[in-house]
Amino acid sequence: MSDSRRDILAIIVAQDSALGQVDLAVNVLSAHLPVVGRPAVCPLCLARRWPCRGFLDAAARIHAVGIGLHELVPVDLHPILWPEPHR
Ligand SMILES: [Zn+2]
Repeated sequence: MSDSRRDILAIIVAQDSALGQVDLAVNVLSAHLPVVGRPAVCPLCLARRWPCRGFLDAAARIHAVGIGLHELVPVDLHPILWPEPHR
C-alpha cells in the first residue's frame, strides 16, 4: 500500500434490508475510520480523538437496526473499541 488510507468498495444491498435502511450511516461510519497506523485520529475530525462523535452517532444508528459493528470496523481497530478486560 503506497499510503495509509484504507481501500474502500461499494456494495449493493436491498433498500428494504436492515443494511439498506442505514446506508448513509454506514457511509458516515466508514468515512470516520482512522487511517492505517494512526488509530487514535479521525481523518475528518482532525482535532478529535477517535472514536469521534461522527463515528459514534453513525454507530448508534447502525446498532439500532440490529447490525453488528464488528463486521463494519477493520480488525486493527477492534482493540480500541472493545479493549480486552483486565485480568
Ligand atoms: Zn470523525
